[in-house]
Amino acid sequence: MVNKLKLSEDVWRERLSPEAFAVLRGHGTERPWLGCFVATKAPGTYVCAGCGNPLFRSGEKFDSGTGWPSFQRPVAADALCEVTDRSHGMERTEVRCGRCDGHLGHVFPDGPPPTGLRYCINSVSLRHVPEGEPLELLQG
Ligand code: FE
Repeated sequence: MVNKLKLSEDVWRERLSPEAFAVLRGHGTERPWLGCFVATKAPGTYVCAGCGNPLFRSGEKFDSGTGWPSFQRPVAADALCEVTDRSHGMERTEVRCGRCDGHLGHVFPDGPPPTGLRYCINSVSLRHVPEGEPLELLQG
């Protein structure tokens, strides 16, 4: 079970870079190909840049050709929460951090087997913890 982390907008603004705040708390999208994790293959775990919640394992990352880091599945079903997003004249499934509700990206049903899913995630919403290093949750 994920313990929810709820912080005020002011605290998030203090803790996050302006770029991370715009995406995680403002539902923004970084420009394609410019994020720092588009092409990385280093082993480890991608955690939420806001709260440290483990989200994706490096082994589930794949090259989607979209310009955003893409994953086949999260580390656990409750690592993420999904919300229907009807902005920009489309219906998409938004994915948020299951712990702090920070906006991560969207999930699309056009990924490769075995899941057929493509979790399309903003680099700025992620932090990479190299294999063997401790996973630490940020506390309120
Ligand atoms: Fe989070």
